[in-house]
Amino acid sequence: MTEPTHDEPHGGALGSRLNWLRAAVLGANDGIVSTAGLVVGVAGATDSRQALLTAGLAGLLAGSMSMAAGEYVSVSTQRDAERAALAEERRELRDQPEAELRELAGLLERRGLSGEVARDAARQLTERDALRAHASVELGIDPDRLTNPWHAAGASFLAFTVGALLPLLAIVLPPAALRLWVTVLSVLAALVLTGFSSARLGAAPPGRAVARNVAGGALAMAVTYAAGALLGAAGA
Ligand SMILES: [Zn+2]
Repeated sequence: MTEPTHDEPHGGALGSRLNWLRAAVLGANDGIVSTAGLVVGVAGATDSRQALLTAGLAGLLAGSMSMAAGEYVSVSTQRDAERAALAEERRELRDQPEAELRELAGLLERRGLSGEVARDAARQLTERDALRAHASVELGIDPDRLTNPWHAAGASFLAFTVGALLPLLAIVLPPAALRLWVTVLSVLAALVLTGFSSARLGAAPPGRAVARNVAGGALAMAVTYAAGALLGAAGA
C-alpha cells in the first residue's frame, strides 16, 4: 500500500478512497475524544443523568456541525481553485493550441515516453478531449469528479457523530456507579481501534500510533475529570 503521488493522477482512485476512509476514521476519533472529555468532565462534577445527556448531546451536535462547516469551507475553496485552473487551461487551449500541444507532449516525455511517442500521444489525447488531457496530466484533476463540498461536509458530520455516540451512550446508559468505568474503558478500546485503522490506512506502523492515540484520549479524560471534580467540589 502506497500513498498516491502527484505524478499519478489516474492511479488516484484507490488512493482517494483510502484517504476518504482515513478521514472518516480520524473524524470518528475526534468525536470519541472530544465527547468523552466533555461527558467525563461533567461526570466529575455531577451525578445528574440529565446533565450528562445534555452536555454530551450538545457536544455531539456542536462538534459534528463545526467539523462539517470546516470541511465545507475547505473543500469549497479547493474546488474554486480547481475550477479556476480548468478555466485558465480552457483559455490557453483556445488561444495557443500549438503551445499547449507541445506542453502536453513535453509532460508526457517527462513521464518516460520517447519524444516521438509523446508527440503522437499528445496529438491523440488532444483530438479526443484536450481539456481532459491537460486537466489530468498537467493539473492532476478529473474535471468530472471535483470533490463535492456537501458530500465532504456530510461525511465529516456523520463520522464525528458516530464517534461521539460511543462516549455519550456509555455515560448515560449504565448505572451511576459504573458509568465512569464503562465510559473510560470503552473509549480507550475504541481509540485502540481508530488508532490502528488510521495507521494502517496511512501505511504507517500501527504500534506507536495506537499508543499515542490512547494516551491522548486518556489525558483528555483525566484533565476534564479533574476540572469537573474541582468545580463540582467547589460549588453549587
Ligand atoms: Zn495545458
